Amino acid sequence: MSAEPSPQSPWQAATITRIERRTPRVTSFWFRPSRPFARLAGQHVDVRLTAPDGYQARRSYSIASAPDTGGVELAIERLDDGEVSPFFHDVAAVGDEIELRGPLGGHFIWEESDGGPILLVGGGSGVVPLMAMVRHRTLRNKAVPVALVFSARVWDEVIFRDELIGLDDRRDGFDLVLTLTREPARRPSDYSRRVDARMMAQAIERLPKAPRLALCLRLERLRLGRRRCPDRRRRSGGDYPHRALWSLTEAR
Ligand SMILES: Cc1cc2nc3c(=O)[nH]c(=O)nc-3n(C[C@H](O)[C@H](O)[C@H](O)COP(=O)(O)OP(=O)(O)OC[C@H]3O[C@@H](n4cnc5c(N)ncnc54)[C@H](O)[C@@H]3O)c2cc1C
Repeated sequence: MSAEPSPQSPWQAATITRIERRTPRVTSFWFRPSRPFARLAGQHVDVRLTAPDGYQARRSYSIASAPDTGGVELAIERLDDGEVSPFFHDVAAVGDEIELRGPLGGHFIWEESDGGPILLVGGGSGVVPLMAMVRHRTLRNKAVPVALVFSARVWDEVIFRDELIGLDDRRDGFDLVLTLTREPARRPSDYSRRVDARMMAQAIERLPKAPRLALCLRLERLRLGRRRCPDRRRRSGGDYPHRALWSLTEAR
């Protein structure tokens, strides 16, 4: 599924400048657009591939890099029977040019002016737009308390793992709650089960006060119902808006 592009985001050429393996199934690709564009944390781009016979395939990918940084990082999970993601994993190389357009999506975003505390909840590659928010907060306003509840099957599939743990270790108001669904937890504060209401409530309790905003995605996979994300009536003591990216779940 691709969001409708705004008139300001026509297709343009973008060059792959760097490729880095994140996990066995997820690799980051950095792009240099021919016409650099401003963006917000949480937005995505569409990429378009064109075969020699003219056949085209388009897919959407969230931007992982913080808005203020150069280049556009996309973290792409390989689906073995997919069309576009295996191309990136098996064929794409530094120096290649593809087409992209963006930024797209104006709802699932966090801006500095939104303030905090914020609760972020995601699983698997659903963490990508949340990573842009975490990085943005680190660069722009560390005073905003953030709890990231991140679910992965196993330790080796935790995307951005070293960076996230490094940020958590700073104890500067960013709190990483990792939960592994198919392995024991590795850190004392982490979990080894699917995200559930109790885990969410405990993450909220670790924030200095109830979240001002919660951003959650890939919830069906996490087995959380709409009513439970965020679980705002239990224990948090507050009432706050949330933004949820349902289309991501539907599209995957
Ligand atoms: C806003 C947004 C942001 C996204 N961000 C990211 C991101 O950051 N990282 C990321 O990895 N992905 C992201 N995605 C998902 C991404 O757009 C692609 O859907 C994903 O990469 C799979 O594309 P593909 O071409 O490899 O697979 P596809 O060819 O689209 O296939 C996907 C799956 O559907 C099955 N399938 C295909 N056609 C059919 C059919 N006719 N009938 C039944 N099954 C079929 C395939 O077998 C495969 O399992 C995002 C999606 C959206 C909408």
